[in-house]
Amino acid sequence: MNIHEYQAKELLAKFGIAIPKGVAALTVEEAVKATESLPGPLYVVKSQIHAGGRGKGKFKELPADAKGGVRLAKSVDEVRDHATEMLGNTLVTIQTGDAGKQVNRLYVTDGVDIAKEYYLSMLVDRKTGRIAMIVSTEGGMDIEEVAHSTPEKITTIVIDPAQGFMPHHGRAVAFALKLSGDLNKQAAKLAASLYEAFVSLDCAMLEINPLVESKDGQLLVLDTKMSFDSNALFRHPEVMALRDETEEDAAEVEASKYDLAYIKLDGNIGCMVNGAGLAMATMDIIKLNGAFPANFLDVGGGATTEKVTAAFKIILSDPAVKGILVNIFGGIMKCDIIAAGIVAAAKEVNLSVPLVVRLEGTNVQLGKDILANSGLPIVPANDLGDAAQKIVAQVNNAA
Ligand code: GDP
Ligand code: MG
Repeated sequence: MNIHEYQAKELLAKFGIAIPKGVAALTVEEAVKATESLPGPLYVVKSQIHAGGRGKGKFKELPADAKGGVRLAKSVDEVRDHATEMLGNTLVTIQTGDAGKQVNRLYVTDGVDIAKEYYLSMLVDRKTGRIAMIVSTEGGMDIEEVAHSTPEKITTIVIDPAQGFMPHHGRAVAFALKLSGDLNKQAAKLAASLYEAFVSLDCAMLEINPLVESKDGQLLVLDTKMSFDSNALFRHPEVMALRDETEEDAAEVEASKYDLAYIKLDGNIGCMVNGAGLAMATMDIIKLNGAFPANFLDVGGGATTEKVTAAFKIILSDPAVKGILVNIFGGIMKCDIIAAGIVAAAKEVNLSVPLVVRLEGTNVQLGKDILANSGLPIVPANDLGDAAQKIVAQVNNAA
């Protein structure tokens, strides 16, 4: 789960981490009012969307030479103008895809006089099973580009969670950022606080880009992106309350209500499968037959009629879907129960695209009989290869 920049900064502030003052705003009036509590005269108006690259982003509705999604303002009137241009409009950045994201919230912050920009991020490194802190003197810009062309400018410091953050980790961070004197001390302290925040909040990723040195010698978190380990969210109701469903894919939000693991993809064959491994294999074999899956969908072990119906509705809500492949192994759940669920669901949703079903496992013959006698145009398949060939043929024939 992701959260907005202003929410992440509010969380970090609780760990004693220095952030520029700021106020979130939903309307132009709120943005203007926000300036009253900021020192000025320099303000920053920042679009709040779950994507980075906002500064260099472009608004769809504005002329090509208009400013991006993060703008400096030197007066309250400029804040008003920027807020008016941003709110309700669609911001396209390198991370949003072509569709972009509508800006519904702003964050008005105190403008910092920047001396230098740095990069710092943290993530759970699956290879070492430890937490990696990645730092670079080349902040503010595209870190992928830095990693590609000047990898020597990126330092990774690995922290063993059993040992925790030690003073030498802090010194390594400060050294990698080439900081001396008081800034060196600030960096070591900041790194320790960030580690504490990362672990206590069960973060999956925390990126600060840029981390800045202000002209008056302060190290400040100027921008941050934070995401959480969804398996640990139950421990953090205060984080869960920050979820902004309008930023997420509507079908994925709906799927999460039914505990379905659903991810939308670009193809035209909807997939309904039980078990993540089987779902991966199903997507692979669709590709092997020259077509592309429209989604990943794992209905889980207990594929009830209610879940199967919800899954059908979610798959069909995607206009790109031209056919559905159901691939279910009846282990815990018997094939006849699943078949009855598929038939009930297909009738309820008025299935309008070809449906190929491959069942295997306990009571498979009973299940196949139920499908055959349903009166619905369900195409049965004998195995995974057969199923993939049939759905691809059905979709190609219809096209
Ligand atoms: P992003 O484009 O989504 O990564 O948004 P950022 O919050 O990182 O802002 C983009 C850029 O705007 C930063 O790299 C800075 O160069 C600039 N910027 C943001 N806040 C300030 C500020 O307070 N003062 C100044 N001078 N520049 C800022
Ligand atoms: Mg940034």
